[in-house]
Amino acid sequence: MLDQIKGLHHVTSLARDANENNAFFTHALGLRRIKKTVNFDAPDVYHLYYANEAGTPGTVMTYFPFPNAARGRPGTGEVGVTAFSVPDGALPFWEERLAVHGVSGLERRTLFGEKRLSFAGPDGDGFALVETRGDERAPWTGNGVDADAAIRGFHSVSMRLADAGATAELLGFMNHEEIEKEGAVRRFRVRDGGNGAGIVDVETLPDAARARQGAGSVHHVAFAVDNRDRHLEVRKALMDTGYQVTPVIDRDYFYAIYFRTPGGVLFEVSTNEPGFDRDEDTAHLGEALKLPRQHEHLRPFLESHLEPIRD
Ligand code: ZN
Repeated sequence: MLDQIKGLHHVTSLARDANENNAFFTHALGLRRIKKTVNFDAPDVYHLYYANEAGTPGTVMTYFPFPNAARGRPGTGEVGVTAFSVPDGALPFWEERLAVHGVSGLERRTLFGEKRLSFAGPDGDGFALVETRGDERAPWTGNGVDADAAIRGFHSVSMRLADAGATAELLGFMNHEEIEKEGAVRRFRVRDGGNGAGIVDVETLPDAARARQGAGSVHHVAFAVDNRDRHLEVRKALMDTGYQVTPVIDRDYFYAIYFRTPGGVLFEVSTNEPGFDRDEDTAHLGEALKLPRQHEHLRPFLESHLEPIRD
């Protein structure tokens, strides 16, 4: 079993408009933009990262804004909801704040005994805030949201699958145990608590149509391991189990491997090292356009081609 896996590392989604996306995550949700870089495989597109102050794994939401992307169609084979943890009692504040920001789809409910506020992102992205007791992770409070309400990081991701069987087995192999079931949702949690972002919900929807990826869709979900040695162990074990896993890819702020899971969701496993402060000071994270070495020669073109982000 892969006890190297410590919980979620980041979630990466698709958007249409970089400025709308930036405003939603920083102004409405109060997260910190910790990195402004480009899609390493399509460098004329931004890669924007939002997180807590330092970009701690388990708090990092990232986006590829493709200006001409069609909106995705929700369905099976994808992460349907990305949920963030907020302090106990914070939902009334958020309900009012998000309404003021014109956020749609606001809906209160209880799942697994926890109060949650569901809402939609700018491209129809599925989000929720979940009241959590005792989440010790330090929030970012620089965007007008106080510590008594600020997002602590991920609470969970919820996958929608036509058939959960093989994915449930994979999650077990990836150091998660099934802890609860409510209706069609099975809840898995990383063993020993992990990094505080250790919950994966799996909703089985046998009759639903398959999702079509586009703006508002989650592209992949990444799980955290401490370092490059643990990463190589996980890669080998996944391949020994029969998964087709990519080579280790240097993403500048972490090392990544990717593989497609039986239910259709793309998983990544990422290292906690070297982290987001490797090329800029913690005090100024996310301010300058950062390019990986292989794309630095494109800087003049990219700086004139990419729409400036208004903060
Ligand atoms: Zn990723």
